[in-house]
Amino acid sequence: MNPREQKSDETPSRGATADAIAVGGGLAGSAFALELARHGKSAMIFERMRGPHHKVCGEFLSDRTQTLLRYLGIDVDALGGSPVETLCLANGAKRTSAELPFKAIGISRLLLDETVLTAAERAGATVYRATSVERLEDCGGRVRVQTARATFECRAAALASGKHNIRGLPRPDGPMVGFKMHLRPTDAACTALIGSVHLIAFAGGYLGLCMVEDGTLSIAWIINSQILQLIGTSWATQSSYFAKQSPIFDELTAGAAPAWEKPLAVSGLPYGFMRSAAIAPTIYPVGDQLAVIPSFSGDGTALALASGIAAAQSILKCEGALDFQRRMLANYKPQFQRAAALDWVIADPRLRNVGMAGARLFPSMVTMLVSATRLRGLDGLISSTEART
Ligand SMILES: Cc1cc2nc3c(=O)[nH]c(=O)nc-3n(C[C@H](O)[C@H](O)[C@H](O)COP(=O)(O)OP(=O)(O)OC[C@H]3O[C@@H](n4cnc5c(N)ncnc54)[C@H](O)[C@@H]3O)c2cc1C
Repeated sequence: MNPREQKSDETPSRGATADAIAVGGGLAGSAFALELARHGKSAMIFERMRGPHHKVCGEFLSDRTQTLLRYLGIDVDALGGSPVETLCLANGAKRTSAELPFKAIGISRLLLDETVLTAAERAGATVYRATSVERLEDCGGRVRVQTARATFECRAAALASGKHNIRGLPRPDGPMVGFKMHLRPTDAACTALIGSVHLIAFAGGYLGLCMVEDGTLSIAWIINSQILQLIGTSWATQSSYFAKQSPIFDELTAGAAPAWEKPLAVSGLPYGFMRSAAIAPTIYPVGDQLAVIPSFSGDGTALALASGIAAAQSILKCEGALDFQRRMLANYKPQFQRAAALDWVIADPRLRNVGMAGARLFPSMVTMLVSATRLRGLDGLISSTEART
């Protein structure tokens, strides 16, 4: 076991302290701790899982996500992701495609999150795995972080627990359930899948198909919980429901071997959620704890990295959490409004048909809409402090 692994597996001792703590070692929490560590601040990451793990995610990384990873010093090209240049849309038997306005890549979250967490550790952050935070509160200008075994105090904390809520800090529940499954596609399907991301609509939700490293096909979907109750949660019942509605889904997944026994799931997705109320001046909500954009946008990872970095920069310049939240949400607002309007079109069968007809006539309109749902204001973020590579 190398020293890095030893350090990761230790339980934080009662007296352990740091300038800041990240509650969660996903993209937002790791980016937060990494940015602080490389600017000379001490940071601890408390991650509830023992080791690398999968997340419900389409694993499509936009240009924004890649720019932010490079800013953090990650060698994105070395991760061996699958290149994506085309967006294919399918609705029933109809399909069309459009060029993406940027070069995207498909990388599994298993690999990506572990890469960023390890980078944070190399930069000097201390990572404690298998350490679940139970409570987080401000106590007279300091943050108290309580785990199952001990309580810690620090100057500031990032609430970076993603889809999992911490007691006392709820987010609203939405009606959609998210899933992810990995498959080994046939050679013929691989030829059709490589270079493209597929967005396939069905009654009650949509699917995203994207190749990731090692020739694996990643499928993520969201589905209304009432429909899920009728069809069941297994891969067999859900995939046959999708195949009945989408010949293209059937074509791309026929003969593919499931890599897992059952899909990974997350319920109650609060799409459109924006945490505008302050928790405390010392507690910075980041990633999905700050705001949740509809999944089809494929920009959630960019928002997670950007907010983690921005929260760290706020701490470096002594900006309180409420000012940080106001600034971030004002920046997100136009992107969220456009994504919400498109979400509405996708969800309504009649509007979806009209949208599909428009997309087939004017593929450049699709390219434009993809641009419109990208995160803005990165320049200020990544030039406000010097990037180290
Ligand atoms: C169906 C679906 C498809 C998506 N597709 C895409 C896509 O293709 N591209 C894209 O960019 N985005 C996509 N997203 C969005 C993206 O997955 C999220 O926005 C992103 O993962 C948020 O990162 P995060 O760091 O905030 O949270 P997470 O990635 O959820 O990380 C949170 C971490 O905190 C840990 N944790 C939780 N609770 C505790 C606790 N109490 N104590 C300690 N640790 C804790 C967890 O174990 C986890 O490691 C998709 C989302 C869904 C639901």
